Amino acid sequence: MEPEVSRETITQTEPKTRIFAVANQKGGVGKTTTTVNIAAALAADGKQVLVIDLDPQGNASTALAIGHHRGVKDSYEVLAKGLPIAEAIQPVPNTPNLFCVPATIDLAGAEWDLLTMMAWESRLTRPIQNYLKAHKETHGVDLDYVLIDCPPSLGRLTMTALVAAPEVLIPVQCEYYALEGVDQLLNTLQIVQESLNSQMHKLTVLLTMFDPRTRLSQDVADLVKARFGDAALNTYIPRSVRVSEAPSNQQTVLAYDPTSTGAVAYVNAAREISGYSNLGFSESVTITLLGEQA
Ligand code: ATP
Ligand code: MG
Repeated sequence: MEPEVSRETITQTEPKTRIFAVANQKGGVGKTTTTVNIAAALAADGKQVLVIDLDPQGNASTALAIGHHRGVKDSYEVLAKGLPIAEAIQPVPNTPNLFCVPATIDLAGAEWDLLTMMAWESRLTRPIQNYLKAHKETHGVDLDYVLIDCPPSLGRLTMTALVAAPEVLIPVQCEYYALEGVDQLLNTLQIVQESLNSQMHKLTVLLTMFDPRTRLSQDVADLVKARFGDAALNTYIPRSVRVSEAPSNQQTVLAYDPTSTGAVAYVNAAREISGYSNLGFSESVTITLLGEQA
């Protein structure tokens, strides 16, 4: 049965560092593009931002010009060997405030490794929390954002990110069957909430590859708004050649063409995201799964 989505208020105090899993198990919907460009927009706004590449494809690392050949310290070592994030983190070139933990192809084995690991579900939570604590001690201020770029699956890699992140940013591509992947993601979130930690997730939905000339894009936008209400950002990311060209130049679209429609849209989306944090979790409308008891 399709899980119902309902509104509920979370009463926990607002975390100082906002941690997002950027997830949707449907492939090619704009997870990586969204991760790196929202991260770059937040960093340009003076926020301290860490991107964790949790996809063996290493696309976020590539887009941020972070070397991720075998041998580079990466998110696999963090997950599988307990390497402190501080030892794997790299500054993103020419981008103040933005840092990245890359993924190498080694991460491809992590799904399998996690099957046999004790406390596998907290293999990402603990290193992130340790890093945030150390960051505060060293710099005297909190890191502002962590964005985790998830692979296109709902395996254990994605689940470690969902356990580590109180917030989930779901890019939805404006296409037929756009919400199919989202329903499976919501089911997985419910499993994570019920069986791996009790924390409820705050959802944010971002429409990607929107084409205002097509009826389909508008239909998907209406569907998303009807289903997710305020959790759907008002900003849509347009389909834009500049957005798709930027990664081959190892740049975000903000660096590649800051005045392009795609760059402007990502800046606006990032402003919406940072804006609603001011509400605080206890006041914000939060969508959470109520499942069958709803
Ligand atoms: P995967 O599931 O493989 O990790 P993904 O969900 O991370 O994919 P992306 O890699 O971000 O998706 O995007 C898929 C493709 O669509 C890429 O070639 C990207 O350049 C292109 N793309 C993403 N967003 C846009 C956009 N707004 N306009 C044009 N092309 C886009
Ligand atoms: Mg990706």
